[in-house]
Amino acid sequence: MAMSEITREQLHAYLDDALSDAETARVEQALRDSETLRRSLRQAMQERDRGEHSLGAVWRRERLTCPTREQLGSYLLQVLDEGELDYLDFHLNTIGCPYCVANLADLQALQQEPAPRARERRRRFFQSSAGYLQDCRETKNDDPTRRK
Ligand SMILES: [Zn+2]
Repeated sequence: MAMSEITREQLHAYLDDALSDAETARVEQALRDSETLRRSLRQAMQERDRGEHSLGAVWRRERLTCPTREQLGSYLLQVLDEGELDYLDFHLNTIGCPYCVANLADLQALQQEPAPRARERRRRFFQSSAGYLQDCRETKNDDPTRRK
């Protein structure tokens, strides 16, 4: 396992604990094997201390590891396995990824809407559509381009 396989971004992700178990193990193994990589890690840590690891860079990197909307939905329904659950907890609560937090809030709002209200809204929508269609039919007797 060549240490050159470990990128700087991976080291930062490692420091953020944002890697999968397998990747973490791979990075740790590479760190054990390579003094050069250990130096790179120390350098990465110093960069972070100096704030050189910008928020924008963090954002771009973290964005790549975002869970899918389906995973977020499963998270809300609490049907994730433990590993996924840990990861989403970390991503949402520790990293606080703004993209996923917004996505989750959106899903939550959808789920929390009481079913009867959603049904009622749909009923009204169809009713008003029906009314609209009827109006169209009544007012466009001589209009050959009938809209549906
Ligand atoms: Zn995210």
